[in-house]
Amino acid sequence: MSESRKKRPPKLRAMIFITIVLIAMVPAVSVSWVLIDSVFEREIEYSKSELQGQVLILSNQLSGDDYFSHYTDSGKNSDIEQIADIWGGRIQVMNSGCKILVDTYRLDVARYNVSEYVLAAMDRQSVSYLDDKTMTLIIAQPIYSATQTEAVVPPEDLAEGEEVEYQPRIDGVIMVCVDMSRRTSALSGIRNQMYLLWIAAASLTILAALLVLIRFFRPFGKLNSEIDAALEGTAKKVSVRDYSEFSKLSDSANRLLDRINSLDDSRQEFVSNVSHELKTPITSMRVLADTLNGMDEVPNEMYRDFMRDISSELEREGNIIDDLLSMSRLEGGRAELHLSEVNLNEWIESTLRRISPIAKVAGVEVTFESFRPVTAQVDEIKLTLALTNIVENAVKYNEEGGWVKVSLNADHHYFFIKVEDSGSGIPKEAMPHLFERFYRVDRDRSRESGGTGLGLSIAKQIINLHHGAIRAYSELGDGTTFVIRIPLEYRDSEYDEYREVSDEKES
Ligand code: ADP
Repeated sequence: MSESRKKRPPKLRAMIFITIVLIAMVPAVSVSWVLIDSVFEREIEYSKSELQGQVLILSNQLSGDDYFSHYTDSGKNSDIEQIADIWGGRIQVMNSGCKILVDTYRLDVARYNVSEYVLAAMDRQSVSYLDDKTMTLIIAQPIYSATQTEAVVPPEDLAEGEEVEYQPRIDGVIMVCVDMSRRTSALSGIRNQMYLLWIAAASLTILAALLVLIRFFRPFGKLNSEIDAALEGTAKKVSVRDYSEFSKLSDSANRLLDRINSLDDSRQEFVSNVSHELKTPITSMRVLADTLNGMDEVPNEMYRDFMRDISSELEREGNIIDDLLSMSRLEGGRAELHLSEVNLNEWIESTLRRISPIAKVAGVEVTFESFRPVTAQVDEIKLTLALTNIVENAVKYNEEGGWVKVSLNADHHYFFIKVEDSGSGIPKEAMPHLFERFYRVDRDRSRESGGTGLGLSIAKQIINLHHGAIRAYSELGDGTTFVIRIPLEYRDSEYDEYREVSDEKES
């Protein structure tokens, strides 16, 4: 129980639901995420380079005149204040000893700033660093002297023979700290709105997916319950026509139901036919026995006649049972073919030899004509039963002095057996039913000759098992011809092909 529960297949509904939500949400979320992220980054990059440019201009201006000697009353300080105001940040100017000369926040004037950024700038580097956590942008720019130079490496530290390299002297450093979160606050707002939008879109998608699924799966439920009702017998037909696909499904289900019903009908008809067939000889025997019992003195002659009749009824009952057994063996899963290479000429001759006593009694001449020697892969025992049924019929439904011609021919693919007779023939309207079980054209004549109505049906089944086909041609009063066509070589894969060809022809 738990095993079967584990193996339950996934629900189509759930799969479709997840697929719809993923298809709708994944592209929307990822595209908007990437988009807003790139806008964010571009905004920061832009601000950074703009500020860097302004700081560079400022550092050049500070190096121009003798700023560091007169920094307290320099007009440049108002420029520094202005830039700090515009960016909402803090600007500090340090001299070459890292002493803070100007601080727009006025908190650390005359103190020393030896932060890594200032030291890096003192080392002639332009620093630009964004702290992701605090969103603080730090820019540190060396201020070069416009007139003075200095040795990059002090002469005493130089290796022997190395030349002294001079560069503009560093008079100080300008350092700017700007809180970028203020600048990107608008974008952060958009990002927050975007999260809300995602939640709204996800809710809408889920709602839409549910609605679509309910609409889409309603016909499935309808189809299911209509098929159940038809199988239980409370409804006759299935008719779900919501979509063309369901219309086709309904038609197929109806065909299936018709087939089940017709199988059921034919099973019932078969059971009632079998009962009837088996009962008939028993009834006659009982009538015969009751008649004998009811008479006081039965003449010997009459007694013998009645016993002969009882014996023939018994034989008939035996024939029916034999045929029923053959049929059930052919229909049940035991219908296996025991194939062997059979010389068909010899096989037909020996089969006809076995029938010849019956033919002699009936006064019918049976002849065999072979157009060529033929060997084929067949189940000899089953095929003998089929051929015997057909040839015996040709003898049974014939007249004294009549003839039966059996012929054998073959091409590269099939062999053909033709059984012609000079008998009574079969009326046109009977032809479509000829191979049906228990079908007899002339019930009395068939009974007289010990027929069961199963012979042709058994023969057809055996021939079909060989992937072959049988056809009958007849005119009332002008004899009958049966033609059997069977492949010389039995092949599993050819089954349908042959059946289709034969069924087409039969129809
Ligand atoms: P049965 O046991 O009655 O012969 P079959 O299935 O062999 O049953 O044949 C079905 C019916 O077809 C027969 O009852 C008979 O009326 C008719 N039939 C079969 N073969 C011939 C034939 N060669 N000539 C005339 N009628 C035939």
